[in-house]
Amino acid sequence: MLEVKGYAAFDSKGPLAPFKVPRREPGERDVVIDVLFCGVCHSDLHQVRNEWAGSTYPLVPGHEIVGRVARVGSKVTRFHEGETVGVGCFVGSCGHCDACKRGLEQYCDQAVGTYNSLESDRKTPTYGGYSTRMVVNEHFVLRVAAKERLEAVAPLLCAGITTWSPLRHWKVGKGHRVAVLGLGGLGHMAVKLASAFGAEVTLLSSSPGKKADAQRLGATDFLLGKDQAKARGRFDFIIDTVSAAHDLVALTSLLKLDGTLVLLGAPSEPAQVPAFALIPKRRSIAGSLVGGIAETQEMLDFCAAHGITADVETIPMQQIDRAYDRMLKGDVRYRFSIDLASLNR
Ligand code: NAP
Ligand code: ZN
Repeated sequence: MLEVKGYAAFDSKGPLAPFKVPRREPGERDVVIDVLFCGVCHSDLHQVRNEWAGSTYPLVPGHEIVGRVARVGSKVTRFHEGETVGVGCFVGSCGHCDACKRGLEQYCDQAVGTYNSLESDRKTPTYGGYSTRMVVNEHFVLRVAAKERLEAVAPLLCAGITTWSPLRHWKVGKGHRVAVLGLGGLGHMAVKLASAFGAEVTLLSSSPGKKADAQRLGATDFLLGKDQAKARGRFDFIIDTVSAAHDLVALTSLLKLDGTLVLLGAPSEPAQVPAFALIPKRRSIAGSLVGGIAETQEMLDFCAAHGITADVETIPMQQIDRAYDRMLKGDVRYRFSIDLASLNR
């Protein structure tokens, strides 16, 4: 076993603190990755604070990882030392169920989360990217074409793919009116990607100060909470990225005939929706979980070709608790990205 530097939460209340992260000896199919940057996802915060229940400690968060290959196992064919790579939200799956065969490993019943999960042996805890080094099976490692601004590429591994996957699944593009609810890490990627696909994008926000940014990112319209009722029946598709409980009934009323509300945000409280919010206009409410390995590679290649990255504020690992507090207040434009070199200084 190896031990590497990292930061962990030790319970749901306290601050994160230094932790020696155990990593397995690399096997023949493993890639050893020196982590360069790791994005800070709201899911990290939900799990650190045990808001979804079932968190196990010490918990080393981080699933928006970009790094450099330090070494590869003897049977690794797709990567070599020195290459820039990414790791997203999961690092294992069964490989033979229907979901895995369809390249949708995230929906495999045995998917192994990058952190706060158990390895395929169902015993060994997984630890995420708030650490200097990881050991990951090559199937779950992504190729990163970008050579610079890697801190802004890291958030693509969750915020990017989580918004890309439903936009592609529902074939969103030219002629569609899309609303994005919430301009945070996921929301700002949803605006960038949906507008890159040719959709007309409206940002639904609770923050008056985000209007200019929404337009710069590609939204043609910006509606604050109180004005959103004006958009009744307007949208083909709504991407909901809000992390806290909110009114889904008001939101479904903005969908047109056959419109779909896709839930990406994962508040801990259940939502209530009466049947009559959906029945009269054959509306749907759906959910979507991150994205499979093949589509993540497609997304990374698309973003590299189109110059799309996240808007980030880079922080040292030591500032993570302050970053969580600021994220909760919506005070980040639009993703924190941890520079792991800060652990070696
Ligand atoms: P984030 O950066 O904190 O952004 C969330 C945004 O939601 C905020 O910027 C804010 O936008 C809005 N918001 C927050 N609290 C609100 C409240 N009380 N009322 C109304 N609006 C509020 O979070 P994120 O990293 O994008 O993640 C968003 C959610 O998606 C989290 O629940 C996360 O766990 C989940 N997630 C899901 C998946 C998946 O696979 N489905 C993947 C990753 C993350 P405005 O200021 O514009 O209102
Ligand atoms: Zn995430």
